[in-house]
Amino acid sequence: MRLSRFFLPTLKETPADAKIVSHQLMLRAGMVRQESAGIYSWLPLGFRVLKKVEQIVREEQDRAGAVEMLMPTIQPAELWRESGRYDAYGDEMLRIRDRHDREMLYGPTNEEMLTSIFANFCRSYKEVPKLLYHIQWKFRDETRPRFGVMRGREFLMKDAYSFDLTKEDAIKSYNRMFVAYLNTFARMGLKAFPMKAETGPIGGDLSHEFIILAENGESEVFCHRDLLDLPAPGLDVDFDGDLQEIVNERTALYAATEDVHDEAAFAAVPDDKKVSARGIEVGQVFYFGTKYSEPMKARVTHPDMGEVPVHMGSYGIGVSRIVGGLIEAFNDDAGIIWPRSVAPFDVGILNMRPGDEPTDQACETIYQQLKKAGLDPLYDDTKDRAGAKFSKMDLIGLPDQIIVGPRGLKEGTVEVKDRASGERQDLSPQDAVAEIIKRHQQEII
Ligand code: ATP
Ligand code: MG
Repeated sequence: MRLSRFFLPTLKETPADAKIVSHQLMLRAGMVRQESAGIYSWLPLGFRVLKKVEQIVREEQDRAGAVEMLMPTIQPAELWRESGRYDAYGDEMLRIRDRHDREMLYGPTNEEMLTSIFANFCRSYKEVPKLLYHIQWKFRDETRPRFGVMRGREFLMKDAYSFDLTKEDAIKSYNRMFVAYLNTFARMGLKAFPMKAETGPIGGDLSHEFIILAENGESEVFCHRDLLDLPAPGLDVDFDGDLQEIVNERTALYAATEDVHDEAAFAAVPDDKKVSARGIEVGQVFYFGTKYSEPMKARVTHPDMGEVPVHMGSYGIGVSRIVGGLIEAFNDDAGIIWPRSVAPFDVGILNMRPGDEPTDQACETIYQQLKKAGLDPLYDDTKDRAGAKFSKMDLIGLPDQIIVGPRGLKEGTVEVKDRASGERQDLSPQDAVAEIIKRHQQEII
C-alpha cells in the first residue's frame, strides 16, 4: 500500500477525553473515530488490526474443532422470553420495535439463538458433541462506555457454544476452548491468564476469565506468580486427546477475579508468590449445564438415558477489545509497537527524497520485492518532511522500517530499523529485504 493512497488521518495532539494510552494512541494513529458514546468507525489502519486479531481467533477456534457460522445482530424478543432473560437482562439490552410493532433487540450475546437452532435440528445423541461459533457485532448499552474500544457499546465478539450429552463431555468441550484460548492469545504476543470467575448473567457454575495484566485494567485479580510463567501449550496440541492435564496445571494455581477472590485460599499462597494486580478481561469461558437447554427444550434422546437436555457451555473473546488491550501491552513514548502477528502492515518503507530518481527507484524495487515475498508493506511515498515521516511511522507502530535516502544509497545502503528495540542497521537494499523476510518468518509460538 502506498501511503499517498491510503487513508491515515493521524492526529498531532492527544485528544483530551481519551484517558488511557491505548485510547489516545488509537485516536492519534487514525485507527478509529467515535461516532457516538461507545460506538466507533474502524478506519483502515484499525480495521486491518481488527481483521488480523479476528483471523487468529478464527484459526484457533477451527484448530480446536469448533465450526464457524453466522447469526444475525438483531434478534426477536420472543427467544429471550423462552429463556427468561428478556426482563432479567435489564437496561444493557438495546430494545427495538420494527414497523409491525414486533419486539426486537440488538443481540448482546447468542445463547438463546443457538440453543433454539440446536433444538430445532438436533434430537439424537448422535448429534453431539457440537461446538459452533461466530464472530459478530454485539450491542450492550453499558452504563459507562469508556476507554475507547475496550468498553464500547457496539463491539466485536467471538462467541462459541458447546452441546454435549453429559457434564463430563461438556467439561471436555470446555477444556478445548480453554486450551484454544491459551494459544490464541499467545499467537498475538499476549500473556493472558485464566482466572476463576463469576458466571454473571450467563449463569452456571464453572467459569474462567482470561486476563492480560495491565495498569489500566478494569478488573482486579489475584494469583500465584507461577501461573505467569507457564508457556502456551503450542499449536501441535492434540485437541482430540486429553487436555485435562493442561487445564489442571493452570487451575491448580490460585488465580481469581475480584468477585470470587477467596482471602483464606490466597493466604495459603507463599508471600513471594502472591500477585495482586489489575487486568483486562479479553475472554471468558462458561460451563452452565442445562440452564438454557432445559427451558428451551434442547434435548436429545439416548438409548440408555432417554430424552435429556444437553449440557452447554459458552465461550467469548472480545475481538475489538483486544485491539485496545494490545496497545496497552505494547507501546512507548513514540507510539504503538505491534507484535508482528497483528501488525496492520508488516513493514514501513520511508522514501526520504521523493522525486529523486535513484531513491524512488530503490524504494519501488524494495516495495515490489517485499510484496512478491507475500509481505504487506506500507510505502511512505509522500512529500512530508523527514521528521513527520519518522514520527508517523513510529506512531503507527509497524514492527520494521526500511529508511531509504540518497545519502545512504550513495554508499549502497538503506537503513533497517526495528521498532521495538530501536536498533538500526545499514544494509544493502537486497540484504534489507532478506532481513525483513527472515524476521517475518519467526512465529510467536
Ligand atoms: P465485562 O465484565 O468486561 O463487562 P463481560 O464479562 O460482561 O465483560 P462476556 O459476556 O464474558 O463479557 O463477553 C465476552 C468478552 O467480550 C469479554 O471477555 C470481553 O473481552 C468482551 N466484551 C464484553 N463487554 C465488552 C464491551 N462493552 N466492549 C468491548 N468488549 C467487551
Ligand atoms: Mg466476561
